[in-house]
Amino acid sequence: MNNPTSGSPVTRRRFIGRMSAAAALVLMPRDGRALDAPTPKKKLGVALLGLGRYSANQLGPALRLTEHCRLTGVVTGSREKGREWSRSYGFPERNIYGYDTMGDLAGNPDIDIVYVVTPNQLHAGHCIAAAKAGKHVICEKPMATSVSDCNAILAACRAAGVRLAVGYRLHYEPHHAELARLAREKVFGPFMKMEGANGFIMGESARAATDWRLDKKLAGGGPLMDMGVYVIQAACMAKVEAAPVAVTASFGPVTRPKVFSEVEESIQWTMEFADGAVAHCRSSYGEQVSRFRAEAAHGWAQLEDPAFYYAEPFLTTSRGPSNFPEVNHQVAQLDGMALELLEGRPSLAPGEMGRRDIAIVEAIYAAAMSGQRVEVRS
Ligand code: NAD
Repeated sequence: MNNPTSGSPVTRRRFIGRMSAAAALVLMPRDGRALDAPTPKKKLGVALLGLGRYSANQLGPALRLTEHCRLTGVVTGSREKGREWSRSYGFPERNIYGYDTMGDLAGNPDIDIVYVVTPNQLHAGHCIAAAKAGKHVICEKPMATSVSDCNAILAACRAAGVRLAVGYRLHYEPHHAELARLAREKVFGPFMKMEGANGFIMGESARAATDWRLDKKLAGGGPLMDMGVYVIQAACMAKVEAAPVAVTASFGPVTRPKVFSEVEESIQWTMEFADGAVAHCRSSYGEQVSRFRAEAAHGWAQLEDPAFYYAEPFLTTSRGPSNFPEVNHQVAQLDGMALELLEGRPSLAPGEMGRRDIAIVEAIYAAAMSGQRVEVRS
């Protein structure tokens, strides 16, 4: 990991290794809750919907470690795969659902939350079906591929009286939480100049040629939808969750036009905020990059590369390196969201935030296609 400023990460990790991720989370509330507040005992039941790479490699394993929720079911297109998960995670086979039998979730008290982890364009249909079955919903990022789909998800969850959160794991990660605090408390003054980038090199593995991420219909867009939303998130976090008022943008560079015939390979954009702050951002499937910097009149904060990946980010400020516990992002997010539900607190990553980000994404694409400055509609 590229980390020139972290001091002694080994010592830090040894210390942190004695703390569970959830314990770290309880020690670091962002909502003013007392440090010794009693922890609820009930574990919420989560059903993962879509058993692809993120479910298999991150969310499933995380649900073995969580304190406040556990895996109690799945929704999958493959009954056989569902049986494998049932054996591996120890939930009953009756808790395996197909995409077409989600209505039956309604009568199942084992499942409190459906976590939607399918290709972006399918999120809306799957979230709405989960809400109609009366289940709380966590929807992976990006929330949907259009603002109108976000509106439909929000309306369905409102009508069903269920909670909707977006899988923005970094709100539950201590270094990003510290960036949010620095912004909220204006420790250096309001952040006025930001710069961020997030990308990876698509196509280094054999599967990439058939990845749905290259299919405009299923992905909704290219790296902006997939990786760029993290940069949008960081910039809005640095502006205390304000949305930009306008954006400018351009596509490129294009180095592999055959691979990227449907979605952009790279994109850069600038977000303008109401107080005059600007964020210069970029996202790419042709560059391994992951960083964010925010500057204010009296100091700066920088999330070093890798700022947005699963590894521990390092936050350096003009006062020096910050020293926070390393957490498993998915455990912290899942336990954080479960606790929000159990304690009746608002989510750090509500559906409205996911909708805000898709409104920004739509404005960025419109700006890149037209070459014009585009106002962001709220
Ligand atoms: P994946 O391709 O590995 O898995 C997708 C799953 O959806 C598969 O199980 C597939 O069978 C299922 N599926 C159902 N209907 C499908 C259809 N019509 N076409 C294709 N697949 C279909 O993808 P992934 O990497 O697991 O990503 C899934 C979602 O999770 C995406 O929205 C992605 O943005 C998000 N994600 C988030 C993070 C994060 O850090 N928060 C990381 C990775 C992925």
